Amino acid sequence: MNATLKSRSGFFPARTIYEHLSFCSEDITRGSLILVNQHHPMQTSPAACDLVDLNNQQRDLLSPHPGKFENQLSHLEHPIEEIYLQKQAATMLFSLIKKAHAGGAITAVSGYRSQAQQISIWEDTISREGTDFAEKYVARPGCSEHQTGLAIDLAKTAPSIDYICPAFPREGVIASFCNLAPQFGFVLRYPSGKEAITQIGYEPWHFRYVGFPHSVIMTNRQMVLEEYLEMLEAETSPLKPLTYTQDGARIDIIYLSMKNRQKIEVDFSDVLPHTLSGTNKSGIVLTRFRRS
Ligand SMILES: [Zn+2]
Repeated sequence: MNATLKSRSGFFPARTIYEHLSFCSEDITRGSLILVNQHHPMQTSPAACDLVDLNNQQRDLLSPHPGKFENQLSHLEHPIEEIYLQKQAATMLFSLIKKAHAGGAITAVSGYRSQAQQISIWEDTISREGTDFAEKYVARPGCSEHQTGLAIDLAKTAPSIDYICPAFPREGVIASFCNLAPQFGFVLRYPSGKEAITQIGYEPWHFRYVGFPHSVIMTNRQMVLEEYLEMLEAETSPLKPLTYTQDGARIDIIYLSMKNRQKIEVDFSDVLPHTLSGTNKSGIVLTRFRRS
């Protein structure tokens, strides 16, 4: 194996180092794999310049926000008129809709929410539907994936759409969309049977961008994000990556623990394109792409 983890006490390999990567504790809170749930609240909001308004783009693909939903949040202090998503997630969502031939068949219902908007939705849902319903389908302020700009609620395009529980039946082009979603970096975040882990009821309408190939591995292994990050933490290291292979490309996935560290450095004896994501827990995930 061609990687070493350099600690302060220091082990340096007697070989040429071609790539030296250095990460700091702030890297933990950003990236497509951050876990946001009731135990891991948001720490850093996405920058406004990283968000794009879906309704202003490619209207032939994604039906525009109809402006009026059933079960509409009637008198929000912070009304939600635009639907924003982080740029990379938006780009991949449009590519996915195109590939599934689902143009016009899908409506975006809810994307990025600020803390103030999440508070409004939480309070409005409690007042109209009660606390039990709100706890099942709406995350507490600070603990909603929608605050990352990486989550999107989708509906089958219809004259009338329920805002909190939109209909997204897995049939026709929507079934194609769901089947292709992992290849484009998306996972169904709250599947049936995982409620005890996610603490959220089954939501066939809520998709989360985690990035490729994580989305494919999670789907193939039937793991939700909580389980996937735990597995990476327990089973991978610079010397022992999780390897994923597709179409002649090999991808190494490595969990780097930042526990009790402000900074971590890793050396590799090869130079490869890579992506980095925090976990919003105690580590970061490094993904290295190589040709086999
Ligand atoms: Zn949602």
